[in-house]
Amino acid sequence: MRGLIIGRFQPFHKGHFEVLKEIAGQVDKLIIGIGSADESYTFEDPFTAGERHLMVSESLNQAGIDNYYLIPIVDIHRYSVWVAHVKSLVPPFDAIYTNNDLTARLFREAGIEVRRPALYDREKYSGKKVRQTMVEEGDWQSLVPEGTIMVMEEIDGSNRVKELAGDVQ
Ligand code: ATP
Ligand code: MG
Repeated sequence: MRGLIIGRFQPFHKGHFEVLKEIAGQVDKLIIGIGSADESYTFEDPFTAGERHLMVSESLNQAGIDNYYLIPIVDIHRYSVWVAHVKSLVPPFDAIYTNNDLTARLFREAGIEVRRPALYDREKYSGKKVRQTMVEEGDWQSLVPEGTIMVMEEIDGSNRVKELAGDVQ
């Protein structure tokens, strides 16, 4: 079976990494949707879809996981047709893994099985927390997997986040 999970991965952190590793072990193929793929260079969404693709794929490859597809999903700002939009972009799937109540409702109403994955130390591992730690020049490296550290170094990512935090938007 194929399972779908969607995250913005701004940036890809160890909570995402743990849940992807667990689900990849339960499904034949894991479809990973990169949400808000059209967003970048804002404090909430600092990284491009391509940069996020690299963070996820490098981390999973280093963990020896290769049964996944990574698909960018742009926002459409119309929840009533969100499921159809997602289905138009990703390979066919049997279930969606999500902890977001609205996402769960939309997919359930479309007749798709919804599964709730466990959250790993959510206090510590969230995109918001990683971005804040970058702004405070704290130890953000301990919150993210190797692939994310590699991409951050390549694109000067933590300084981008710091600068975006100072911008008036
Ligand atoms: P942000 O704070 O920027 O919203 P986030 O950590 O909430 O980031 P998202 O990019 O919004 O992460 O992706 C949400 C997806 O990631 C959801 O499916 C959610 O269940 C999963 N996720 C987020 N944090 C964790 C965690 N600590 N453990 C397991 N899954 C997580
Ligand atoms: Mg979130």
